[in-house]
Amino acid sequence: MKATLKSVAFLFMSIKTETLVVGQGMAGTCIALALKQQNRDFLVVDNQHHLSSSIVAAGLYNPIVFYKQTLSFNAEKLIPFTKAYYAEWERAHGVEVHKERVFTRVFSSVEEQNDWLSKSSRVPHSMYMKSGLVRPNPQLFNAPFQASQVQSAGGLDVPVFLSKSRDYFIAESSILNDRLKKVEPQDEHWKCILEEGKTILAQRIIFCEGHQSMNNPYFNYLPITGTKGDVLTIKCPEMICDDVVNAGFFIMPLGNDYYRVGASFEWNNHSHEISIAARHELEGKLKGLLKVPFEVIDQLTGMRPTTGDRRPVMGAHPKFEGLYIFNGLGSKGVLLAPYYANHLTDHIFNNIPIEKEVSIHRYLKHYGNTKN
Ligand SMILES: Cc1cc2nc3c(=O)[nH]c(=O)nc-3n(C[C@H](O)[C@H](O)[C@H](O)COP(=O)(O)OP(=O)(O)OC[C@H]3O[C@@H](n4cnc5c(N)ncnc54)[C@H](O)[C@@H]3O)c2cc1C
Repeated sequence: MKATLKSVAFLFMSIKTETLVVGQGMAGTCIALALKQQNRDFLVVDNQHHLSSSIVAAGLYNPIVFYKQTLSFNAEKLIPFTKAYYAEWERAHGVEVHKERVFTRVFSSVEEQNDWLSKSSRVPHSMYMKSGLVRPNPQLFNAPFQASQVQSAGGLDVPVFLSKSRDYFIAESSILNDRLKKVEPQDEHWKCILEEGKTILAQRIIFCEGHQSMNNPYFNYLPITGTKGDVLTIKCPEMICDDVVNAGFFIMPLGNDYYRVGASFEWNNHSHEISIAARHELEGKLKGLLKVPFEVIDQLTGMRPTTGDRRPVMGAHPKFEGLYIFNGLGSKGVLLAPYYANHLTDHIFNNIPIEKEVSIHRYLKHYGNTKN
């Protein structure tokens, strides 16, 4: 490959960039792609943490919050944006990562069924909730209260989306595999010291660190915590099912008799190990729903970056110019990251105000709990 000025600079211990993006999960990837689209100079640094949420995400998105049977946050604008975004990414990268998927919601009671039937007859719910009932295959499922279906849901192959984006950043000499250890002001810039010794001088930093932002001295005043989640991969040769089935947990077909099953939520478990309790819980739910045998093949665990009000958090640090955060994607990174990454870069470069519900300013009263 022809050596560019940037790739030569990578060999030296000190690099200059306009924007440093910290993290290359769903948040950092979408921010870096938005910067690229706006022709901005940027560099990503990512240490591929083993508890990164994005690596284990099933990649599903869905306009309905099943347990409340309400529309998901901003569904009406996020769903069309998300579909168009991944379609455009596929065209640019020549790889298929996105698929529209039918979600079948299995009801747990007659009340839930009635609530669905009533809501699905009214706008806006009727845009996404099918109005009729479906009867899941009685040879396969215990579903005495039947089911209905969701439209406009889908799924992203997150590992492929991230690794192909990473290949693209590598080809552009725009990513370093390293951990950002320390940040300090230097003249008009931020001096960023990496674990392996390099330093980066950046005009601005956008922190997309997922749950690890709890260790960030500038942003640890924000109420972002890690919500542990586990998923199982099962083999179930007798099940013939192309839909994503949701019965308070999901079963997602992977092909060749394999299915992803999840996900658990553990708010107070911060262990790095897979959770035995989560495995028991998911296996128990599967046994309750399925009439056919299955075998657990493996289990993965990760930490969702979650805020108290379950909304993303983004914007500029209240005191230090040039420091930004994009975080709090919770369990909806696939739906939230594309739209809000573009929203944040529009804010930074085009002065578009950040939507109040996702703005960092809603946590201003928390500021002051750290030395920064
Ligand atoms: C079990 C499970 C299932 C899920 N299923 C779904 C799903 O079906 N659909 C959906 O939309 N969402 C799902 N999610 C949620 C989704 O994974 C998150 O919303 C999203 O991935 C969060 O992305 P992020 O980039 O903010 O954080 P992360 O994915 O955690 O990425 C943060 C990145 O920053 C890097 N980093 C952090 N600090 C530093 C530093 N100092 N220096 C260098 N690098 C650093 C880390 O190594 C990591 O790569 C699931 C989550 C779990 C746990």
